[in-house]
Amino acid sequence: MKIAVFSTKPYDRKFLEIANAEKSCELQFFEPGLNPQTASLANDYAVVCVFVNDILGRETLEILAASGTRLIALRCSGYNNVDLTAAAELGITVVRVPAYSPYAVAEHTIALILSLNRRIHRAYYRVKEGNFSLNGLLGFDLNNRTVGIIGTGQIGRITGKILHGFGCRVLAYDLYPNQEFKEQYGEYVPLKDLLAESDIISLHCPLTTDTYHLINEETISLMKPGVMLVNTSRGGLIDTYAVIKGLKSHHIGYLALDVYEKEADFFFEDLSDEIRQDDLFERLLTFPNVMVTAHQAFFTAEALTNIAETTIANIEEFEQGKPCVNQVLPNK
Ligand code: NAD
Repeated sequence: MKIAVFSTKPYDRKFLEIANAEKSCELQFFEPGLNPQTASLANDYAVVCVFVNDILGRETLEILAASGTRLIALRCSGYNNVDLTAAAELGITVVRVPAYSPYAVAEHTIALILSLNRRIHRAYYRVKEGNFSLNGLLGFDLNNRTVGIIGTGQIGRITGKILHGFGCRVLAYDLYPNQEFKEQYGEYVPLKDLLAESDIISLHCPLTTDTYHLINEETISLMKPGVMLVNTSRGGLIDTYAVIKGLKSHHIGYLALDVYEKEADFFFEDLSDEIRQDDLFERLLTFPNVMVTAHQAFFTAEALTNIAETTIANIEEFEQGKPCVNQVLPNK
């Protein structure tokens, strides 16, 4: 079965080729992302393999369906970039990698919290330049602080468990509370209480129509002054205008992002020689208490191995006419 792999970086190719070494998928790697303009590259490919920022709205899916695509294999867990209703109507099956390494994302979340709190990013450059002053590097103990986890799925639960180990009081909010987490690590509370009581708020719910701009002017106003806000989930959970306003007023004391609502325009690319066009993003970078990484929370060897192996297994299952265990259906 011919597979068009979009948004291919050298590391995607390496790990997919290793996973396919003893399998028989015909992988064709394309560097561009998938969108209506690039969809014709997949002409005659039964399978299209994509990543987080590929655009699979109805227009793209119609082009793919007309040229023979029957399976979309996502190399990620989130599927907010796919119009699942359109895919179902067009007879295209969508599969994903539901869990590749929740530890990778949870551990990166902790790395952001620790680095931002203790200003490691600033200290690193200071010491290299012979500046050994501590002014401006004051942090706080995590022990005894209250942390709010929004979304206690696989990643949120591991993040909460690690922070519980640091001596934090862990509050949680989820539509479907997890009994084991509740018994061992955290207390489920209404969202407004989590927002009001947390020193650190970490987002781990998916991006859906319900969670779009979950963090907005109103929810920020409910937070503790000086709160640390962390988002390693999806950029669209946060209204960027509202957090910039919150940072300017000092209501938000720290912001750590691994995702950004308009990241699809530039994340994963080297634009260091170019004039960057996103003024909102550039404003975020001007704050000394903001730390941004470019959607790298998933990026560990273990995660890339699991992503590649599950993707190849998903494709083989479909090819062999077996039930697709990792299929994503509309409204799931
Ligand atoms: P998961 O499906 O295991 O957990 C998501 C949790 O969110 C579930 O418990 C669900 O009940 C809860 N939820 C859904 N809607 C909610 C709402 N309105 N309010 C509160 N909770 C809600 O997912 P996961 O594997 O833990 O991943 C979480 C998110 O992390 C994914 O959706 C994805 O967007 C993101 N992610 C980011 C990276 C990265 O590299 N930055 C990598 C993987 C996943």
